Amino acid sequence: MKTLFQKIADREIPSKMVYEDDICFAIEDINPQAPVHILVIPKRVIARLSSATDSDAGTLGHLLVVAGKVAAERGLSGGFRTVINSGPDAGETVPHLHVHLIGGRKLAWPPG
Ligand code: 5GP
Repeated sequence: MKTLFQKIADREIPSKMVYEDDICFAIEDINPQAPVHILVIPKRVIARLSSATDSDAGTLGHLLVVAGKVAAERGLSGGFRTVINSGPDAGETVPHLHVHLIGGRKLAWPPG
């Protein structure tokens, strides 16, 4: 069974896609928490960080490089945050790993 994000990648569910390559894609979050809130998502499903293996290292690094490029394209020169929620205590709701790219306003620390 496909994950929500696989259905989005396959255009079965509409989204605002802002980036795509062979390894990953990036979409506008449907419920943005900041002026810029983009999800960078691998095409090959990794459920969450706790299920990632050594063979996922290249993909995980690529997600962060893409997040940085998208942040630059969005003009986030003042800074931005990347977040990966892993598991229920972190608020993970979609079991298909994704990097949140959040910016465009001052972000509080520590997070809630
Ligand atoms: P998580 O809570 O797993 O870290 O993040 C899941 C994110 O996916 C949430 O920020 C949520 O708003 C976003 N999301 C859930 N369903 C959809 C959808 O159908 N389309 C888009 N673009 N984002 C979604």
